[in-house]
Amino acid sequence: MRVIGYLLLLLASQLAFADGVISRHLHHPVPGGIAVVPLGTQSSAPRAHYQGKPVLIVREAQQWLAIVGLAQKSPSGTHQLITTDGRQFDFQVGRKHYRKQHIKLANRRQVNPLADDLTRINRELAEQNIAYQTFSANQPSNLLFDKPVNGPLSSPFGLRRFFNGEERNPHSGLDFAVGTGTPVKAPAAGKVILLGDYFFNGKTVFVDHGQGLISMFCHLAKIEVQVGQPLPRGAVLGRVGATGRATGPHLHWNVSLNDARVDPAIFIGAFTP
Ligand SMILES: [Zn+2]
Repeated sequence: MRVIGYLLLLLASQLAFADGVISRHLHHPVPGGIAVVPLGTQSSAPRAHYQGKPVLIVREAQQWLAIVGLAQKSPSGTHQLITTDGRQFDFQVGRKHYRKQHIKLANRRQVNPLADDLTRINRELAEQNIAYQTFSANQPSNLLFDKPVNGPLSSPFGLRRFFNGEERNPHSGLDFAVGTGTPVKAPAAGKVILLGDYFFNGKTVFVDHGQGLISMFCHLAKIEVQVGQPLPRGAVLGRVGATGRATGPHLHWNVSLNDARVDPAIFIGAFTP
């Protein structure tokens, strides 16, 4: 009986996605975007991998859908998704142009870190990369996210960034122009999996929403949660600040799917092609 109850619960959570809303809103198969790949109507949930990493699977109406994150450096052309029962699903990735942005930083050490800084930066990167690779079994509570703060968008995802004229990694997330102390809220339910006070990101919170869908919030003035803490949708996790490499207070929000950083704007209905 307990098993049947669990299955009914699972079915109920999957029925939340029942009217084509996922494909309509999330399918932007470009570098830094998402491919929604139909996997058929079998009764049990398929499992699938993209580039060796497990992907998020949800059910919409009668269909199973893979929600595949596409890294910004993805080449255009045919890509493959492989299910654990050996089926191959091909899908196409298009092109997207990302603009350049020049930023002046008074602190040159944030552009060309010292040897000691590099040791720290590499350690911190490794720790964060492990968090991005988290894959828990639970289904995300919602795939159309709430905005984590009330405020205008500022820097979009994917800008090719030049600090004091030197090109560095592209902008991996989405910025909101909001003041210090603004509460940051979980855009979907999740669990806190990592906290840090990093060289570049400053005070940072990682939230696992389930099945490889991870949010990262950084440059916070204050963290108000602990590792392992479950967060209901809308729970406050910290306050906006300007810690780390930031030219002023704002919220920087990353969203990762199957370990690919994708445009968070897709999840809040603000994607621009
Ligand atoms: Zn940012």
